[in-house]
Amino acid sequence: MAWDFSTEPEFQAQLDWVEQFCRTEIEPLDLMFPGAAYSRDPKARALADPLKQQVKDRGLWALFLDRELGGPGFGQLKLALLNEILGRYRSAPVVFGTAAPDTGNMEMLAAYGTEEQKRRWLYPLMNQEIFSAYSMTEPQGGSDPSLFQTHAARAGDHWIITGEKWFTSAGARADIIFVMCTNGMFVVPGDAPGVEIMEYPQLHNHIRYNDVRVPADHLLGPEDGARVLAQRRLGGGRIHHAMRTVAQVKLAFDMMCERALSRESHGKTIADHQMVQEAIAESYAEINMLRLLVLWTAWTIDNSTTREARTQIAACKYTCAKVLREVSYRALHIMGSLGTTNLTPLQAMWASAPTMAILDGVDEVHKVTVARNVLKGYQPHPGLWPSEYIPAKREEARKKYADLLAADPDLAAWADHAARAMARGH
Ligand SMILES: Cc1cc2nc3c(=O)[nH]c(=O)nc-3n(C[C@H](O)[C@H](O)[C@H](O)COP(=O)(O)OP(=O)(O)OC[C@H]3O[C@@H](n4cnc5c(N)ncnc54)[C@H](O)[C@@H]3O)c2cc1C
Repeated sequence: MAWDFSTEPEFQAQLDWVEQFCRTEIEPLDLMFPGAAYSRDPKARALADPLKQQVKDRGLWALFLDRELGGPGFGQLKLALLNEILGRYRSAPVVFGTAAPDTGNMEMLAAYGTEEQKRRWLYPLMNQEIFSAYSMTEPQGGSDPSLFQTHAARAGDHWIITGEKWFTSAGARADIIFVMCTNGMFVVPGDAPGVEIMEYPQLHNHIRYNDVRVPADHLLGPEDGARVLAQRRLGGGRIHHAMRTVAQVKLAFDMMCERALSRESHGKTIADHQMVQEAIAESYAEINMLRLLVLWTAWTIDNSTTREARTQIAACKYTCAKVLREVSYRALHIMGSLGTTNLTPLQAMWASAPTMAILDGVDEVHKVTVARNVLKGYQPHPGLWPSEYIPAKREEARKKYADLLAADPDLAAWADHAARAMARGH
């Protein structure tokens, strides 16, 4: 039987270990020393590095990369199951070597880099000796790549990059930045002369590239290949966000159910009030719809390619934003006044829902992708009536049974009766 919703026992044992490890090691680190896992400070590294080593010792490091790309080759489905746990904890993706934006950049390098480029950037990124950023969006337009202007001009054995990018996550602290130009994808050292970090925004940086000079071998993939590389990069990134969103909505759901059983109002627990039950029932169904969509998409990538799973990935992208918005809002609401504070994860989770609908491409664009691709499998109906127009189908069915109806008056009467009953309905 090919349809199997169970997890093999060996991998379930790994997941059980991950759950325990995140609860006992990563959550306390996040609560006491937020940002330590990302920090270059030696004292912070001394706290986080032993945890990363434990992950490596379990063979769970950089799980997103296929074996031929340098990872353990577990595939996207196993990564999805892992991310259902990691997505609850802020620094878990870094401790497991699966954090954005490095993951997408590594995928791009692994797929398109020369051996020398991989040696120079991929392996140090995998080992978190360096960190990276991805610079695609421009201030004058993010959703339409044809509006991008950043360009690289060839000058002997160098390229000179000129342009302006915006919302480059962690750009200010990146050792290398993948800069999407109109004529190719380039790797730019963060400290190259001409890289100017603007004051705002501070987390997702506005960067001016003022005639930044990079050697010719900093072009990644073919000249003019930036869009293909970007698709490759963003496809993986989107499904990873969706996997981590499953973790977030499950957390919200757990909090919602615990609270519903813990509070009383008008003589009974709020879990006994029907509108609270509705919130729980709707959330349960929505979370599982999202989860199965994400797992099916991950399975499709494992069994074909990211490109072939494009429609599903796009559907995951806007569905995860929607389910996050709905479920986190219900959980926050059921938590009452406490839910509106930053004393539980819910307020931040709800506030992140609009962000999820914008980053990696706005929902509208992904909905267009889904509708266009889905419609390729359909044709307009040839005549005036839709192909499911019942009177026309009945005419066809009558022809199929013509001999039988002619030979058997009982069956003919039955068919006539059914036709009259149908006609009376309209
Ligand atoms: C937290 C966060 C992190 C990010 N990190 C990065 C990063 O690391 N690197 C990077 O390059 N970018 C990054 N981005 C930028 C992100 O990719 C862009 O914000 C996104 O592509 C949308 O571009 P925009 O913000 O210019 O919105 P716009 O393109 O201005 O769109 C604004 C609104 O216009 C409407 N709209 C736009 N196009 C269409 C359409 N075709 N059909 C219907 N409606 C439409 C939608 O309502 C949309 O929400 C990040 C964004 C966020 C929020």
